[in-house]
Amino acid sequence: MRPANPDLHCHSTASDGVLSPAAVVERAVAHGVDLLALTDHDELSGLAEARAAASSHRLSFLDGVEISVSWGEDHTIHVVGLGIDATNPRLVEGLARVRAGRDSRARRIGEELSRYGIADAYAGALKYVGNPALVSRSHFARYLVECGVAPDVRSVFERWLAKGKPGYVPHVWAELTEAVDWIRAAGGVAVLAHPARYRLASAERHRLYAEFKAVGGVGIEVVSGAQDPSASREIAETCREYGFLASRASDFHGPGESYADLGAIAPLPEGLTPIWSLWR
Ligand code: AMP
Ligand code: MN
Ligand code: MN
Ligand code: MN
Repeated sequence: MRPANPDLHCHSTASDGVLSPAAVVERAVAHGVDLLALTDHDELSGLAEARAAASSHRLSFLDGVEISVSWGEDHTIHVVGLGIDATNPRLVEGLARVRAGRDSRARRIGEELSRYGIADAYAGALKYVGNPALVSRSHFARYLVECGVAPDVRSVFERWLAKGKPGYVPHVWAELTEAVDWIRAAGGVAVLAHPARYRLASAERHRLYAEFKAVGGVGIEVVSGAQDPSASREIAETCREYGFLASRASDFHGPGESYADLGAIAPLPEGLTPIWSLWR
């Protein structure tokens, strides 16, 4: 497969995106994407709709997922699974377990915010939720913007929802090995999402790459929506060093909200093996 404009990571209302799965596909087509993977957080329920829409538009489509992982000293890492069988019982059951803690976490986020004078944030966040099994910090962020607490989603995270901020509630997600095992059991390939986003010291960062490789991870997002070109060059270096396959992705969540729109991302740097070479 030699797509000209692949986009292998994005979100719909099945998790914290703002467009329905079919609307994501239509927007991808309109933006010239020619290979798409929908990768909702810890959730597969948007895939059937997206796949059907992709098929009616003759868009090449991969079933995907983005799994939340707790790693090392209290870090949250995201692992994308591509080309998965969305009916695989191990994956389905694993994800159900990862999702299970989200509602009580969300209630606690609401309680924390109320201690800082922001009332009823849990109920407010729910207004933005498309899938009750998947309440995310993004939904809180949208509600806090509505309340006028901050001008946009990005600043809400910086002030209220990022690690160490007043509305942050620590949570235990899947283990790295589990997430990769579920993806592999479902016939997919595991890709480390947006590596530049993790606040890791250099030694720790290399431990993550080595461990990801050792447990069966095969790819790394070299180009990711929110990332500047110098970060992409650094990750390209890592990609070669560890023998990962390179992915390219917008991590699109919604018009006006994401850093990059569907397909509107840089090409892969030279000299990398693209992950889409796996699908012919
Ligand atoms: P959760 O899985 O509920 O912890 O929510 C994580 C989601 O919050 C991510 O997938 C992003 O969509 C969003 N997010 C996290 N950090 C930021 C940030 N600094 N700016 C904007 N969105 C963010
Ligand atoms: Mn998200
Ligand atoms: Mn992510
Ligand atoms: Mn994502």
